[in-house]
Amino acid sequence: MRWRGRRESDNIQDMRGSGGGGMGRGFPGGMGGRQIRFPTGRGGGGISMSTIIILVVLFFALKACGIDPLQILAGDPGGSSVPGGGGQVTQTEPGTNAGPSDEMKQFVGVVLAETEDVWNGIFQAEGAQYSEPQLVMFSGQVQSACGFASSASGPFYCPSDRKVYLDTTFFEQLDRQFGASGDFAQAYVIAHEVGHHVQNLIGVLPKFNQMRQQMSEVEANQMSMRVELQADCFAGVWGHYTEQKGLLEQGDVEEALNAAQQIGDDTLQKKMQGYVVPESFNHGTSAQRQKWFAKGLQSGKLSDCDTFNNPI
Ligand SMILES: [Zn+2]
Repeated sequence: MRWRGRRESDNIQDMRGSGGGGMGRGFPGGMGGRQIRFPTGRGGGGISMSTIIILVVLFFALKACGIDPLQILAGDPGGSSVPGGGGQVTQTEPGTNAGPSDEMKQFVGVVLAETEDVWNGIFQAEGAQYSEPQLVMFSGQVQSACGFASSASGPFYCPSDRKVYLDTTFFEQLDRQFGASGDFAQAYVIAHEVGHHVQNLIGVLPKFNQMRQQMSEVEANQMSMRVELQADCFAGVWGHYTEQKGLLEQGDVEEALNAAQQIGDDTLQKKMQGYVVPESFNHGTSAQRQKWFAKGLQSGKLSDCDTFNNPI
């Protein structure tokens, strides 16, 4: 991915090295939300279809007004950068990610900024306003409004505080353990979590969290898959516009598709436990994850990401 020299988001909170205590504030807790995790094979969630469908369809219907998001997105040459990252920055843990001038943070900052540009454009085209999520980089452990999380959780999105949580050592794990290397594989992970944020804004996640309470675990897992696959599709939509800006390099799409393949529930389970339990799938199989990412990537249209009204 051609990311160097581009704008870095100022919505990054660098909590690496702070051991998780840094967020300090107690949250009201309660039903606030569950972590929407990335790939590590647990903790999904559910929704029964009908209501969510209405919400999603409504949103897509709004979109029919016919403004081309592309025109809005086109005007971003990647200008100013925000080197310091704002007030919440703590020290960077020596060693792990602190390469020369902290390349990891720059990369994450640029990818997040690119998601901001794309989603701001898409929402504007709908006559809506996108509210940008914060992204917390952490190491070891972190306190979120959705609870305590450690590196073992994998990246996740917390609907209650509207933040993406990213332990960047996950990228090493992605590479070594899951066999998904490459910067665009990492970008896909970030874009997927931002996809959950979009779902939060358009009402999908709140409905999901509400409805899962009346669902059996199996039902909840099935609905979780639809939520996750939609986030993959949204990541693909982001990829679509990123490609149009000329930021993709040879092999980038393959990197993302390979990542989607490697973190499919079936592939993960085979690798981790040697066998597969389809009822426990909550993110989607490798084939499904690839399919929905590719769908978004090809068309760039949210309406092609309706995982609730279509077979997955
Ligand atoms: Zn997810």
